Amino acid sequence: MRSCAASASTSPAVFLVLPCPAPTAISTLSFDNVRERPLADIWYHSESFNAYRGEDWMRDPCRSCDRRSIDFGGCRCQAFQLTGDAAATDPVCRLSPDRVLIDQILTAPSADAEFVMRGAR
Ligand code: SF4
Repeated sequence: MRSCAASASTSPAVFLVLPCPAPTAISTLSFDNVRERPLADIWYHSESFNAYRGEDWMRDPCRSCDRRSIDFGGCRCQAFQLTGDAAATDPVCRLSPDRVLIDQILTAPSADAEFVMRGAR
């Protein structure tokens, strides 16, 4: 995962250490609780922090792409939400075999709906 820093759940009962803001969207990953495992151990050795670290997990087109060390194959959470496979190329990439999913969203009639900013009244 490209993520930069760990974040922890704010629930007092659950102190999960997360590799990005939304990885619990990936139901195939498990996450560790900092009250049960040292943070350094989670950072370096946990499943959730290592599943998509580096480039070995990548398949083509990412594996052979010149941009793989720049964008790290895109967002793992987004890939999982849209394809059901967290190791898939992020569908927002034009090289993704799943790009049609994004194109369908962008061309759907609702794509013309007016944007409303949060807090705007
Ligand atoms: S997401 Fe697209 S641009 Fe990025 S590494 Fe994969 S194929 Fe290349």
